[in-house]
Amino acid sequence: MKLILLGAPGAGKGTQAELICERLNIPTISTGNMIREAMKNGTEMGQKAKSFVDAGNLVPDEVVIGIIKERLAEKDCVNGFILDGFPRTIPQAEALDNMGIDIDTVLSIEVADEKIVKRMSGRRVCEKCGASYHLEYKKPNVEGVCNACGGALVCRKDDAPETVLDRLNVYHEQTEPLKGYYAKTGKLKTVEGQEELSDTTALVFQTLGI
Ligand code: AMP
Repeated sequence: MKLILLGAPGAGKGTQAELICERLNIPTISTGNMIREAMKNGTEMGQKAKSFVDAGNLVPDEVVIGIIKERLAEKDCVNGFILDGFPRTIPQAEALDNMGIDIDTVLSIEVADEKIVKRMSGRRVCEKCGASYHLEYKKPNVEGVCNACGGALVCRKDDAPETVLDRLNVYHEQTEPLKGYYAKTGKLKTVEGQEELSDTTALVFQTLGI
């Protein structure tokens, strides 16, 4: 399955992507994680991206399109993949179409802005492997420690409340129009994000028929 997950930052795309990935055994491709990794390693791309990410803005299309093109050409993508955080603009979606990639489904996870702002303050990520947790909804087995790799759990700089509001504005202005773009192709499906993570997952799996 070739799947795109859409939704505002903090709507739970990353967590659902991990669960779909486990069930279908296809890779999750998160441009956000790839960019953060590049920033951590101080690569040329990471340095270019840093000021945009820290301010809650989108990294320029050509940079992200380049990263995705390389990643989708890797062997593990032949049986499908989950795109988490890409595309985020109409030009990115057009670039994906131009790569000849035929997406099966675009799933949008809908959560109201007020809920997102509340949720984001509890979000934690592993500084080593990027896995995501939540102080209330998805607790690690040991407080402050990643279940997967034992890394330390930290608050993302761009999860600060004032940056979250900027990121939500960017989402509504630049990413939300993708719903119309994919609705026209008949590939768009929508799920309402629930209070309980497992309830959202049940809806997601049901909608995808997996
Ligand atoms: P995320 O973890 O998906 O919320 O991404 C974190 C940050 O990385 C975003 O706020 C953007 O600055 C950048 N980013 C991730 N994916 C994209 C994309 N497809 N286009 C532009 N910027 C992106």
